[in-house]
Amino acid sequence: MATHVIEEDLGAHIAEIRLVDTHEHMGKEEYWLNDASADILCDTFENYVAADFVSAGCSDFDAVLRDADASLAERWAKIEPAWQNIRLTGYGEAVSDLFITIYGHEEIDLATLEDAQAGMPDLKKPGERYRLLHEVAHLDHIQTDDFCWPCLPDASGPDFFLYDLGWCSICNGDPHLRAMTDETGVEVKDLASYGEAMQGLFAKYGPCAIAVKSQHAYSRPLDWQAREDSEAEAVLQKLMREEPLTVDERLCLGDWGWARGVELAGQHNLPFKIHTGYYAGNGSMVMSRIPSQNLCDLIIAYPGTRFVLMHIAYPYSDELIAMTKHFPNVYADLCWAWSINPLHSMDFVRKFIHAAPVNKLFAFGGDTFRPTSAVGYAAQTRRWLTRALAAEVSDGYLSMSQAKQVASKIMHDNQYECFDIEGTRSAIALAGEP
Ligand SMILES: [Zn+2]
Repeated sequence: MATHVIEEDLGAHIAEIRLVDTHEHMGKEEYWLNDASADILCDTFENYVAADFVSAGCSDFDAVLRDADASLAERWAKIEPAWQNIRLTGYGEAVSDLFITIYGHEEIDLATLEDAQAGMPDLKKPGERYRLLHEVAHLDHIQTDDFCWPCLPDASGPDFFLYDLGWCSICNGDPHLRAMTDETGVEVKDLASYGEAMQGLFAKYGPCAIAVKSQHAYSRPLDWQAREDSEAEAVLQKLMREEPLTVDERLCLGDWGWARGVELAGQHNLPFKIHTGYYAGNGSMVMSRIPSQNLCDLIIAYPGTRFVLMHIAYPYSDELIAMTKHFPNVYADLCWAWSINPLHSMDFVRKFIHAAPVNKLFAFGGDTFRPTSAVGYAAQTRRWLTRALAAEVSDGYLSMSQAKQVASKIMHDNQYECFDIEGTRSAIALAGEP
């Protein structure tokens, strides 16, 4: 079969599948409707691609984009030279996907930007955020980390907008104790009551949460070790006396609280998602913190909790395949990975299929704040996944029907096996009743 015929056949199958989106930071309906200063330049470029602009030399990119005193033409003239240097990156390609899918233009230039700007008011209407995600991106549902504990029913789509219970500040050893007390009614005065407050958070928000999530790899190493209660207690007391903590003390308290979160996640049947690999933004990445292998001691200590390791730990992806193969409780997630490096991600999928159980891979998360950006990232994922599986068929490693089965599993079915999606929806329905 010719390659283009294989790609067409597979592409049609992949286009039809309702893609599960395991990771977003999607703004709420009000954010989408009311972010009035977000014109077409913001809507198109205020996503991961901003970091590529800065790396390409456009150091004041954010300020230019939001410069209220400059016209669209003036701002575009400032960023356009850098755009020509980054349009071929995964981030740049996703922007082109966004622009053609939402606004109908293949090329981004002043004329097409002005035309797209004229169409924006139609998108800033109630329900359009849901329509873009559900109909245009053809998503099954989205799992959003909005950086907080509450996972309340989202009236703009209770079955569709599911939320993660954030555990980052606790993993960082920087817990918001007063807020924990406000949420749970538990007065934190020692390590035991700190643990009770954590139980209170899970009791309150666990049923409506789809997962627990932490991105502490941005501020500390992913290495974990078991901590004695006495050691953690001393650090907590010091924290409550408002004395400054050393880095080691923060790690101690962070490891202790992280472990409690992992235990509670297992008890509440919630997968624990962890940011691994590459950093968003510019100028802050500490490569030694981010490999997924740093997590092995934690994973060995807690076999009863499912771990979802995000972003295929780029660029440390081979070791993640090894971990997913070895540990029954480890899953690999391609969220954000396609736009970081699409060729690497394509290669990852091909290697994964022939090394690790295929039920343990998730295809997509846009990892963005706007529905329009998520549309671009979803289109990019479908295209590169099609290429990956078409290459498997044309090289003779998979039959066409095997390739289609793999697509259905990693885009949709695997997520329904790992996450209690229907249980979460039932809890949300119950919580939403007056
Ligand atoms: Zn994220």
